[in-house]
Amino acid sequence: MEIATTRHGDTKDIIIHVPAADQPTVLVGEKLVLHIDWPRRYKLMRMHTACHLLSVVCQYPITGAAVGEDESRVDFDMSETIDKDAVTATMMALVEGNHPVYLQWITDVELAANPDIVKSKNVRPPMGLGRVSLVCIGENASVDSQPCGGTHVSETQEVGAIHIAKIEKKGKENRRFRIRFATPETASAL
Ligand SMILES: [Zn+2]
Repeated sequence: MEIATTRHGDTKDIIIHVPAADQPTVLVGEKLVLHIDWPRRYKLMRMHTACHLLSVVCQYPITGAAVGEDESRVDFDMSETIDKDAVTATMMALVEGNHPVYLQWITDVELAANPDIVKSKNVRPPMGLGRVSLVCIGENASVDSQPCGGTHVSETQEVGAIHIAKIEKKGKENRRFRIRFATPETASAL
């Protein structure tokens, strides 16, 4: 049976898998085995890691983000005009640098004592369970570290060829960056 989407239950540690339309029904208590749609998941892992790299290149507070299979967007609280090809080049240098990406766990107390490591302005880190995963990029987190509960690749090279397709002006102090995977066509234009 195909799962269309997942939602949180009453608390965030309850995950509800919602079947797609016209899927067979299951009985209460029936045991099921869940399989990940690996090609889709891997694209999301690459894209999500690319969003981290963008936040390293553009050091502005993040006001919103959405990760997609083909395109992701990150909104920054910034008023400057920035060259998208220069951003692409710096991101690709981080990809090609093949930095390790790994998790480190810190306690809620440690995070509360170091509020500066949170880059997102309006997305709260996944606190409340006693510990928070810190996503580190580079040896000893030399490239970046920030709290995140998402899925990531294990080294930046896996992100592959990506580029900033567009930077949109969304209000006076908001810029929306759109990240896309490079197709052979767009890659040759870079
Ligand atoms: Zn993340």
